[in-house]
Amino acid sequence: MLALAGYPLGHSFRFLEPKRPAPADGLGEIVRASYDDPNAVRAFGRDLDVVTYEFENVPDASARLLDGDVPVFPPPAALRMAQDRLAEKQAFDRLDIPTAPHHPVDSRDDLEEGVARLGLPAVLKTRRFGYDGKGQQVLERRRDLNDAWEALPDAPLLLERFVTFSRELSIVGVRSRDGTKAFYPLVENVHEEGILRLTTAPAPVVSAHLQALAERHASALMDSVDYVGVMALELFQEGDHLLANEVAPRVHNSGHWTQDGAEVSQFENHIRAIAGSPLGSTAPRGHSAMLNMIGSIPPTASVLALEGAHLHLYAKEPRAGRKLGHVNVVGGDPGEVRGVLEKLESLARG
Ligand code: AMP
Repeated sequence: MLALAGYPLGHSFRFLEPKRPAPADGLGEIVRASYDDPNAVRAFGRDLDVVTYEFENVPDASARLLDGDVPVFPPPAALRMAQDRLAEKQAFDRLDIPTAPHHPVDSRDDLEEGVARLGLPAVLKTRRFGYDGKGQQVLERRRDLNDAWEALPDAPLLLERFVTFSRELSIVGVRSRDGTKAFYPLVENVHEEGILRLTTAPAPVVSAHLQALAERHASALMDSVDYVGVMALELFQEGDHLLANEVAPRVHNSGHWTQDGAEVSQFENHIRAIAGSPLGSTAPRGHSAMLNMIGSIPPTASVLALEGAHLHLYAKEPRAGRKLGHVNVVGGDPGEVRGVLEKLESLARG
């Protein structure tokens, strides 16, 4: 999707991709190698103007290795922060960004200590490589501790107080090489089984105060690492307060609506930022919703027949719980969007 947004601006692309088949097949030169093969990584970076990444499990060592030869954006420091939930929480604390109280857990004793400190319910998460709700366990009662401890891998963990949020929001922002920033409106996200299913953009009923608060937090994070590119900050809303949940140093699923629902998409703005071009408008075009196609894809002709629906498929093999594509719905008012969404929901649920 980054390449698709970058070609009209005159850029060309090379991809580092270990898997075959892959969504980028047919979109440019592919270097088929592992992300942690130093020779392949350096060969991949040769003669490139800039390197970027669109998921945060790229090894930090590879990003740093390339950074000596060619600019890597977002900077490896942002990748390091986002790869470790503890480093991320420490960055929130350092920058006075409210977040759930937390306690690092490296042993069963640490877990007891954390529960005594934070109370229950709480969420125990792996510090690294967790996504889509994977690698986390909710602790409701004391007797859940043993099961959660057994269920999670023998790796550094983080205990967080369970947040009784009224809703989940996220803000997607972009920072250019000269430090200019722009933000899309706050969006509302609904997860099912830990996986993002629906984004509503702009989020309904957002005060100017809430938008400004979210922009201030995202801005502080970006400035702290001299960030370049698109970044997403996931937030919990509790009353008038926002608690930061996690940072994504990349284009984000909750920003996919911008492909059809904003003046300039998050993908194009990421490309503009890393290429040193002026940023584009982040203004929404009306009201949007983004529905993920998880595990299966409804008949594409039925989706395409819906006015206001825009289909985006990833060319991925279907698998339970896997995001295979998404549909953006754009309309003049929330009621119009809801009408199309209801039809889409019934198609998606078969
Ligand atoms: P994460 O991988 O941290 O984004 O968590 C996935 C989902 O789990 C979030 O989108 C929330 O729905 C839920 N969740 C994560 N952390 C907490 C928490 N501390 N309190 C309540 N729910 C949480």
